[in-house]
Amino acid sequence: LGSRRCPPRRAADARAATRLKAIAGRPPNHHIGRMEKLHLTDAEWRARLSPEQYHVLRQAGTERAFAGALNANKADGKYYCAGCGTELFSSDEKYDSGSGWPSFTAPVDADVVDEHEDMSYGMRRVEVRCATCDGHLGHVFPDGPGVNGLRYCMNSAALDFKPADGD
Ligand code: FE
Repeated sequence: LGSRRCPPRRAADARAATRLKAIAGRPPNHHIGRMEKLHLTDAEWRARLSPEQYHVLRQAGTERAFAGALNANKADGKYYCAGCGTELFSSDEKYDSGSGWPSFTAPVDADVVDEHEDMSYGMRRVEVRCATCDGHLGHVFPDGPGVNGLRYCMNSAALDFKPADGD
């Protein structure tokens, strides 16, 4: 996902690469227990989600670039997991990466997502899943503009946006 080049930031890139290496090596579900897990059957997920949400969240699908409803959303508010309702991201960390997918520098809390090495499609990437329902959200890349140098590249279909009060 996303080919936009950011200005060279070698120290931050190196830190981000180190962090990505560390998180990719962890076993699944390395976060211990703070998040209550949601386990549903495949039939329950199909009943609960739209076909597009099911494809992204439960089959690790990727929506087409610039096709998602939330890519260009600039409103203040919170982004919740479309599978289980867990608060995942805030508009405070959303930025326009130019990639065509909603992009954030960080989740609202490190514990709300799990990160897993993904070797599919001949690429080495770090997959991001909801820590509560294990739904696929997108990937994290080491080319973000924030202090941690990360870009959380998410699928709109995996997120529900709720505007802040007054919007
Ligand atoms: Fe979830």
